[in-house]
Amino acid sequence: MAKRDYYEVLGVEKSADQDAIKKAYRKLAVKYHPDRNPGDKEAEAKFREATEAYEVLSDEQKRPIYDQYGFAGLDGMGQGGGSGYSHAFHDFSDLFGGAGGGFSDIFDSIFGGGFSSSSSRSRGGATQGQSLRYDLHIQFKDAIYGTKAEFRFKHDETCSDCKGSGAAAGSSKKTCPTCNGMGQVRQGNGFFTIQQTCPKCGGRGTVIEKPCPSCRGRGIQEKTKSMSITIPQGADDGKRLIIHGMGDAGENGGPAGDLLVVLHVDSHPYFGRSGNDLWCEIPISFSQAALGSDITITTLDDKKITFKVPEGSENGKIIRVKGEGIPISSSRKGDLLIKLDVQTPTRLSSKQKDLLNQFMELEKPSKEPRMININR
Ligand SMILES: [Zn+2]
Ligand SMILES: [Zn+2]
Repeated sequence: MAKRDYYEVLGVEKSADQDAIKKAYRKLAVKYHPDRNPGDKEAEAKFREATEAYEVLSDEQKRPIYDQYGFAGLDGMGQGGGSGYSHAFHDFSDLFGGAGGGFSDIFDSIFGGGFSSSSSRSRGGATQGQSLRYDLHIQFKDAIYGTKAEFRFKHDETCSDCKGSGAAAGSSKKTCPTCNGMGQVRQGNGFFTIQQTCPKCGGRGTVIEKPCPSCRGRGIQEKTKSMSITIPQGADDGKRLIIHGMGDAGENGGPAGDLLVVLHVDSHPYFGRSGNDLWCEIPISFSQAALGSDITITTLDDKKITFKVPEGSENGKIIRVKGEGIPISSSRKGDLLIKLDVQTPTRLSSKQKDLLNQFMELEKPSKEPRMININR
């Protein structure tokens, strides 16, 4: 099947801005998301197609390449091979407006609520696996410049010995004798009857003759899994990354849940972040502040930079160094904000004292200064 143009897929103009692209994708994602259309192959294909288109058109690097060279230009960039969804990695928090509280509400309303316990039972006992949450702690510097993070977590996988059937080798499932395969039993006291889930088979309608010894008939086993994920540059504390299908395995052929990775960024002793800017504080002497000075510091990415403290800088002054902040894209970076902490000299040599006394003579500070209006 020939691939459809990405703009056509999302139904937007070639000139569409990021907002319009995001909005268009969001509409399609909500409509075609596999969780909302279980077993619907066409919806899944549409979701995949839209996701691939969005991944390219929302990417400041990939979009211009696609515009100029089409699909061929994207070869080798992890796109255009027809399986944009195979890396199964999507950042919905970005898409649905920030990592804050609003996200989970929107997520719940789209994907059916209760993210950490989203199993749902459908016909034939097929149950979607639980979605899981993993809290990942990363270093401040890794969050700013991006990194590959590895971690191990436990989830339920389909039992490899019985392939999920729960039956031991050579045995099979048989119709539940208690409910005759109905999955429901009636209990009466002569006056009225109540129908309830069969206690023997739990509503499945089948029982296992000889349970698989590896999983004791559950069909699933807890396994420890190693994951390696890419943390995008500029990742903020609280950011959520969703890895589809890495939650618990589904039962009876149901789909696996997702793994939600929540980032916790450790604080740094010398650098903080404010939006796309980094900030830090440095001490300078009062003569450097008064006379002006060139100051060299080591940045978060271990680079030496020199900046100018202008003559007559006051304590608390903030100096902005362009482009030394958080990388937003390959060509754009936030700034570094440096707050000056002017230090009063405390241990003076006699020579320094002499010079300062001479300075004070010239300055002639008032013995009874005028008060500063604190409401100014
Ligand atoms: Zn088994
Ligand atoms: Zn039964």
